[in-house]
Amino acid sequence: MRDTISLIKPTNFIHNQINKDLDSGLHSSVLTRFPPEPNGYLHIGHAKSIYINFGVAKDYAGYCNLRFDDTNPAKEDIEYVNSIKKDIQWLGFDWNGEVKYSSRYFDIFYKCAEELISKGLAYVCFLTNDEARKYRGTLKNPGLNSPYRDTSIEQNKALFKKMKEGEFKEGECVLRSKIDMSSSFMCMRDPTLYRIRFETHHQTNDDWCIYPMYDFAHCLGDAIEGVTHSLCTLEFQDNRRIYDWLLEHLDEFNKIDRPHQYEFSRLNLEYATTSKRKLKLLVDNSYVSGWNDPRMPTISGLRRRGYTPESIRNFSERVGVSKVNSLTDASILESSIRDHLNITAPRTMAVIDPIKLVIANYPEGKIESLKAPVHPQNKEMGTREIFFSREIYIDKEDFVEIAPNNKYKRLALNKEVRLRNSYVIKATHFDIDNDGNIKTVYCTYDPDTLGKNPSNGRKVKGVIHYVESSKAINAEFRIYDRLFLESNPAKFDDLSSSINPSSLEIKNGLVEPNLSDAKAEFSYQFEREGYFCRDSESEGLVFNKTVGLRDTWNQ
Ligand code: ATP
Ligand code: MG
Repeated sequence: MRDTISLIKPTNFIHNQINKDLDSGLHSSVLTRFPPEPNGYLHIGHAKSIYINFGVAKDYAGYCNLRFDDTNPAKEDIEYVNSIKKDIQWLGFDWNGEVKYSSRYFDIFYKCAEELISKGLAYVCFLTNDEARKYRGTLKNPGLNSPYRDTSIEQNKALFKKMKEGEFKEGECVLRSKIDMSSSFMCMRDPTLYRIRFETHHQTNDDWCIYPMYDFAHCLGDAIEGVTHSLCTLEFQDNRRIYDWLLEHLDEFNKIDRPHQYEFSRLNLEYATTSKRKLKLLVDNSYVSGWNDPRMPTISGLRRRGYTPESIRNFSERVGVSKVNSLTDASILESSIRDHLNITAPRTMAVIDPIKLVIANYPEGKIESLKAPVHPQNKEMGTREIFFSREIYIDKEDFVEIAPNNKYKRLALNKEVRLRNSYVIKATHFDIDNDGNIKTVYCTYDPDTLGKNPSNGRKVKGVIHYVESSKAINAEFRIYDRLFLESNPAKFDDLSSSINPSSLEIKNGLVEPNLSDAKAEFSYQFEREGYFCRDSESEGLVFNKTVGLRDTWNQ
């Protein structure tokens, strides 16, 4: 087996560790796992974890399990299970075999708890929450032994059975491990292994009323599945001691090649939160339209916004694996999608804030069909049909009465500008409505400028985009800004104080007719405007702005 797996050139400490373990013969293959708790949708931080777990497995021709860490029925839901599976597949990863659930191991966990009790290493404790907190001590002071710590093994066995059989109330007692109440690691002060919850579980229904704690279930799940390297985030660093203690004290799992835990830094993203609890608050309090609101840093929000799996994988690669927690620049995520769409997105024209132009010297009733490249740098993507006639629309921002200076590159009275993929025009005069707003701009066009420069050496510097009025179709544009005003909203427990009140702007404009059947979540470059994709949750033609054409974060 060992011969078929090659060590790879390490690019991070996880590779170093795995190389060492393969080289020493401790392991002959690599099995990792991604263990989400189905209590929310996956976010960009999970994407990093997925990329690392599945990526490392792939690097060594190994496997990665998907295991739902479903030990808290109060907060979990099958909706989350389904969204998590969908998101992982969309990101381009395949888990090893069947989806795994911690809840499938409840019988084994129960037996392990009994083994610890039989070894005098676990006891049923009736301290109330408040009492238990006091007995726990502080970072400076050691804890005190619970008065229930010395209950006999036989009594503990009977009490634990009673817990399982529902003879105690929720919160009345817990099963605790007997480790060390004076440990300098708080998590080693007789941590809880099981608690009582009278809740219906999405996988096991009402079979159980006692549920294992994360620390107990996690290492056992890893050991049962034969995980070799259990990769998690740094906040579990101290808990590694429980992980090791439990596996070392259970006969079945105390083996030389048992799993080991390694920690890497969490991803924290500027102007976003990667706490599921806080994301859920945003949803529950209707600050956003749902978990997949395009402003959410969830995988489903990013997908709806037009992010591609490739861009999220590239982002994960760029942020890398380290042991130092930091705040990642929002511009890194945006440039990863911009870089990808710059290569792949078909070009098209959309007028987001339209004003009408009348080309006075163009024949009435005539419509011309023109060809425009789908991607100017990639001829293989072919051409698209666009139109030109006497009436067109341009963006309001592209016209001013008097050019402010010689460098002005858009349309102004008596100045020439090129319409993208079309003719050179010149503005002559305009109408205003009763409120003094510009209503219609009148122009002339030069018929001899299609695909060529104007004659007699006239230089036309500017290019603006447009749509032809009779063929263009109405569309709504949703333009997003950062969801939070603070670059590090994690600073606040109450997120509402940092929410950006204008994170969504809605505009109504026009797009080229070929966008009538635009596929949802597939981004186009609206030339000069940015990347946009059709919204997957709306009936009509609604486009979400994925990202602008340039980095505007650092200005
Ligand atoms: P919870 O507070 O609900 O436990 P969680 O963010 O830890 O939230 P899990 O579903 O337990 O969510 O996470 C699954 C895996 O993803 C874990 O291994 C966790 O370490 C990892 N993970 C979660 N958030 C991040 C993040 N921001 N960056 C990197 N990895 C993360
Ligand atoms: Mg967790």
